[in-house]
Amino acid sequence: MLTPLFIRQAARSLGLDTCGLCRNEPDEALARRLADAGPVPFAPPAAERLSWDSVLPGARAAVVCIFPYRPAAPEEGNIALYARPEDYHRVNRRYLGRLADLLAAEAPEASFAAITDTSPLADRWLAWRAGLGFFGKNRCLIHPVYGSLFTVGALLTTADLPADTPMAPQCGRCRRCLDACPGRALSEKGFRPWTCKSYLTQKKEPLTEEETAILRRTPLIFGCDECQRVCPWNERAAPSPLPEIQTARVAALTAEELDALSVRAFDRTYRAYAFAWRGKKILARNLALLAGR
Ligand code: SF4
Ligand code: SF4
Repeated sequence: MLTPLFIRQAARSLGLDTCGLCRNEPDEALARRLADAGPVPFAPPAAERLSWDSVLPGARAAVVCIFPYRPAAPEEGNIALYARPEDYHRVNRRYLGRLADLLAAEAPEASFAAITDTSPLADRWLAWRAGLGFFGKNRCLIHPVYGSLFTVGALLTTADLPADTPMAPQCGRCRRCLDACPGRALSEKGFRPWTCKSYLTQKKEPLTEEETAILRRTPLIFGCDECQRVCPWNERAAPSPLPEIQTARVAALTAEELDALSVRAFDRTYRAYAFAWRGKKILARNLALLAGR
C-alpha cells in the first residue's frame, strides 16, 4: 500500500528530495484565477486546465516533485537559467518514469501518468496545493530552500492519497520583482502576459516598437529571469542536487555560432535543450535586436 512516507522515501532514493501530495478535488480557486487571467500565451483553454480525467481517467491524487535548477557556480549567459541544462521535459520525465516504477511495484493495482508541462494541467498550481511553496508577487512558486529556481513534474495516480497543506504568501512588503520587470508585466493587481519579455523572446510574429524596447532592456535572448534574479528567496536558494543540471550546459549563444549553423544543423545540435523549440530564426532575431540591428 502506498503511504506518504513510502512515496517520499522512493523519491529521495532517486535524488528527488522535495515532493508533496494533492488530491483531485473541485478547485474553485484555480477556476477563478484562470478566469481572471483570461487567455495566456502558449496555455490551453481554462476548462482543460482543470480536468485531471483527460490526462488519467479515474485520477484521485498527484505526487508532485520539484526539480531544482540553480547551477553550482555563478554563470554569465544570455539564455534563461532553466533552459541552460538538458531540456527539463526530458530530465523530469526520466525521473518520473523511475518513480512510477517504484510506486507501481508497491501498488500494482494503481495507474500513473507523468506530467511536466506536457499536459493541460497547471503544474505549478498542483505544486502549490501539494505544499511545495507559496506564490510570490512575481507569480512564481517559491520554495523555502530552492526559491523559485525549479521546474515541476507530477505523477497523477488512481491511488487514494492524502493531501499536504498549501503555504500562505510570504513576500511581505517586498516589491523588488515588480520594480525590476522590464515589461511592466507585474503589478500588485495582476499580470499582463502579453508584455512579459519571456513571451516576447518566443513570439514568432514581428515585434512592435514597444515590444522591441522591452526585449532590449535586459540581456537574455530566450526567456527572462529578472523577476527571479532580484528575488531575495533566490539569492539564498540552494544549488540543484540533480547531476543533469550541472553538466552539458549551454549558457549563451552568439550570432556567429548561429550564422555558422543551418536550420537543420541548429536543430540537430540543440535538440536536447528547451531553448531550441522556437528554432534558430527567432533566437537570431533576438540577438540582432539586442545588438541594435
Ligand atoms: S519574466 Fe521578466 S518580463 Fe516576465 S514578469 Fe518576470 S520580470 Fe517581468
Ligand atoms: S522579489 Fe519580493 S515581492 Fe517579488 S516574489 Fe520575491 S519576495 Fe516576493
